Amino acid sequence: MAPVTKEVDYLVIGGGSGGVASSRRAAKNYGKNALVIENNRWGGTCVNVGCVPKKLVWHAADIAETIKHSHRYGFHVETTAPFDWKFFKQKRDAYIKRLNGIYETNLKNDQAQFVHGRAEFVAKNQVEVTLDDGSKQVIQGKHILIAVGGVPSWPTDIPGADLGITSDGFFELEHQPKKVAIVGAGYIAIEFAGMFNALGTETHLFIRHDTFLRSFDPMLQEKLKAEYERQGIHIHTQSSATKVEDIGNGTKRFHYKDGKGESSIDIDTLIWAVGRTPETKHLGLDKVGVETNEKGHIKVDEYQNTNVPNVYSVGDVCDRGFELTPVAIAAGRRLVDRVFGGQADSKLEYDNIPSVVFAHPELGSVGLTEPEARKRYGDDAIKVYSSGFVSLLNSMFEQDEKTKSTYKLIVAGPEEKVVGLHIIGEGSGEILQGFGVAVKMGATKKDFDSCVAIHPTSAEEIVTLK
Ligand code: FAD
Ligand code: NDP
Repeated sequence: MAPVTKEVDYLVIGGGSGGVASSRRAAKNYGKNALVIENNRWGGTCVNVGCVPKKLVWHAADIAETIKHSHRYGFHVETTAPFDWKFFKQKRDAYIKRLNGIYETNLKNDQAQFVHGRAEFVAKNQVEVTLDDGSKQVIQGKHILIAVGGVPSWPTDIPGADLGITSDGFFELEHQPKKVAIVGAGYIAIEFAGMFNALGTETHLFIRHDTFLRSFDPMLQEKLKAEYERQGIHIHTQSSATKVEDIGNGTKRFHYKDGKGESSIDIDTLIWAVGRTPETKHLGLDKVGVETNEKGHIKVDEYQNTNVPNVYSVGDVCDRGFELTPVAIAAGRRLVDRVFGGQADSKLEYDNIPSVVFAHPELGSVGLTEPEARKRYGDDAIKVYSSGFVSLLNSMFEQDEKTKSTYKLIVAGPEEKVVGLHIIGEGSGEILQGFGVAVKMGATKKDFDSCVAIHPTSAEEIVTLK
C-alpha cells in the first residue's frame, strides 16, 4: 500500500451531482478541507451521459415537432429537410466539455480540492487513489462520502446482447439511426422512444408487460401509451428479447418472443434501457464492511449514514430508491449541514419529490399515485379531480394531429389535502415545479382554487378543477 499522502476533513468519492455539491458546500460554507476524487469526467452521469445532453436532444426533437406543425400556423416552411445529427452532436459535445470545465472551476472557486483517479477503500478512513499515470496515493478522511453513482445495466442472458448499446452509447452515436429497437419500460426507454420518433427514426419499443412507466399513476401510463401509438411508435407489449445477430451492412437482427410467438426485426441500432447498476463492485467496500443490498446499493439510514461510522453515501449508489440529480445534490448538501454545520436534524425528506419524464409530451408527478393514495387513506377518504383537454397550441392542428393533455389531482380527507398531482401535456416539466412547492407545503384543494388562474395557459386547469 502507498503511504498516506494527505489527510482531509471530508473525502468524497465521485465527482458527479451529489459528490461535487456536497464537497463544495463543506469547503465554502463550513471552511472544511474537502477533497473530491473522480475517475472520469467532472459532473458525472447527469452532465456527461444523462440529464443535460438528453434534454438537449429533447429540445431538438421538440423543435422538429414545431417545424412539422408550423404550417398549421401559416408557416409554409420546408419540413422534409433531414436533421443534421452530426452538427447537433458536435455542438452538444462542445457544450458538455464547457460544463466539465465549469465544474472544475466551481470546485476551485469554493476552495474544494480535487484529484483525478480511481478510488478504492483500503481502511475505514483511508482510500487509495490510482492516478491517471498509474501511480498511487493514499488519502485519509475524517469523514468519507461515497457518491459513485451507477452505470447502465446490460442483459446477462441474451446471446449477442453486446451488439446493442446502452444510454452511454446513445450519446456517442455519430449518425441518426434509421430504425431503432429500444428494450425497457422506464424513464430512459420512454424518453429515447419519444425523441427518436419525433426526429424521424422508425422506433420500436419492446416492453415486458402491457404498459410502461409502471411506477407512475395508471392515468399517465395509459395516456402516454395511447399518444405514442397515435404518433406511430411501434410498441411491442408482453415481449422479451431472445437473441441478437449481426447480419452485415450494419444491420442487426433482433429476435424476440411475445404473445404471438417468436419473431424478429432488422434494425440498425439496438438500445438496452433496462435500469442501472450501482458502481460498488471495485470500491473495496468489503475491506471496510460497508453493507450493500442484493443489487449492490449501499444501505443508508434516513441521515445517509452507512453502517460504518463517519462513512456516508448519497445519490444513485445508495438504497433510497430515487435516481435523480436534484435528490443526490440535496442529500449531499443536507448531509454536510448536519456533519459540519451543527444542524443535527438536517436530512432530505424523501416524500413528495416531483419528477418529470421528458417524453413527447412531457409527463410528471408529485406525491402519491391513485392506487397508493387509496391504499394509504382508504377509498372513502380519497377524491379524484381530473381534466382532459386540448391545449390552445394544439387547437390549430388537424384532429388526428392533436396531443391531448390530462391532469389528475388526488385529495385526501375532509380538508381535501392534495396528496398527488399527475399531469401529461406540453409544458408539464415547467408547470410541475411550482405545484411541487404547494404540495410540499401541504396545500388543500381550497388553496389551489383560491389561486387566480393565469389565462390562457394549460396550468390554469389545475386551479379550476371541478
Ligand atoms: P453520478 O452523477 O453518476 O456521479 C458519480 C461519479 O462517480 C461519476 O462521475 C463516476 O465516474 C465517479 N466514480 C465512480 N466510481 C469511482 C471511483 N471508484 N473513483 C472515483 N470516481 C468514481 N436525473 C434527473 O433528475 N433528471 C433527468 O432528466 C435525468 N435524465 C437522465 C438521463 C439519463 C440517460 C441517465 C442515465 C440519467 C438521468 N438522470 C436524470 C439521473 C441522474 O443523472 C442521476 O440521478 C445523477 O447523475 C446521480 O448523481 P450521483 O452523484 O449519485 O452519481
Ligand atoms: P428504470 O429503472 O426507470 O426502468 C427500467 C425498466 O425497464 C424497469 O422498470 C423494467 O420495467 C424494464 N426492464 C428491466 N429489465 C428488463 C429486461 N430485461 N427487459 C425488458 N425490460 C426490462 O431505469 P432506466 O434505465 O430507464 O433509468 C434509470 C434511472 O435514471 C431512472 O429510474 C430515473 O431515476 C433516472 N432517470 C431520470 C430521468 C428524469 O428525471 N427525467 C430520465 C432518465 C433517467 P418493467 O418491470 O415494467 O418491465
